[in-house]
Amino acid sequence: MAMEVRVRDVKRWAGRRIEVPLEGEWPAPLQERSDWPLEGAACGRVTVDNGGEFLAVVLRGRATLRAECGRCLGPMRLEVPFELHQEFREAEPGLADEWLPYRQDVIPLDELVAEAVVLATPAVPVCDPECRGLCSQCGRDLNDGECGCLPPADERWRALAGWRRPQASENPEEDT
Ligand SMILES: [Zn+2]
Ligand SMILES: [Zn+2]
Repeated sequence: MAMEVRVRDVKRWAGRRIEVPLEGEWPAPLQERSDWPLEGAACGRVTVDNGGEFLAVVLRGRATLRAECGRCLGPMRLEVPFELHQEFREAEPGLADEWLPYRQDVIPLDELVAEAVVLATPAVPVCDPECRGLCSQCGRDLNDGECGCLPPADERWRALAGWRRPQASENPEEDT
């Protein structure tokens, strides 16, 4: 079922506001566009403020995604708080630029909720800011302990490996 908010009442005069919860299933467009499967039912609120010429819609909520840590590749629960502001005007579709059109006293929320959550989802989720990830050589999860691999030699420093700082004190008589 499509997520939407009815504005027949709030659109009557400027200054009026309504606030309703986001309920039910997360909308299908979000399930399609999200990088990760969603967990649980929709969670959030939508407020609609009548600004005179337009209706100001604010979506706030939180989605829970079943993601994978970008460092250790372990499964993780990713909490995604989201907030999106969008202006709507009662108009035919096609002309909108900074605002979106609505008709018949209903503002559709499916695409808006999808946009809000997708924009708020981090590109590379991390299970913990301290996650140490996998060893690039043996693949061991370094959160479980050290693997003993030596860090790979860095080519940039190789040229300096045979270089020794001149010791002025080694042969003091040559300095004179
Ligand atoms: Zn991790
Ligand atoms: Zn290793």
